[in-house]
Amino acid sequence: MYNILRALREAGAVRSFEANGSMWFETNTELHGNMVCRVCGRIFDVPPLGEEVQNALITSEHSIESVSIIMNGVCRECRSRMPPP
Ligand SMILES: [Zn+2]
Repeated sequence: MYNILRALREAGAVRSFEANGSMWFETNTELHGNMVCRVCGRIFDVPPLGEEVQNALITSEHSIESVSIIMNGVCRECRSRMPPP
């Protein structure tokens, strides 16, 4: 299974990132970040990066091959179960 995912990643059909000590694969290949909920451990997509950031990466003098943006926090569902601060 892992080799299939790796082949798909190399073909650009999936992207991968590391979070919670595991490698994750996703089919959303648009440049975006992922938020890991520290309470339930689920991983959520966060909106695509703004055009300005994307252009800065594209026009960088370096050849950027992948971008991982991992944010840690509490998801909306878990937040709603917490007492107000
Ligand atoms: Zn949660």
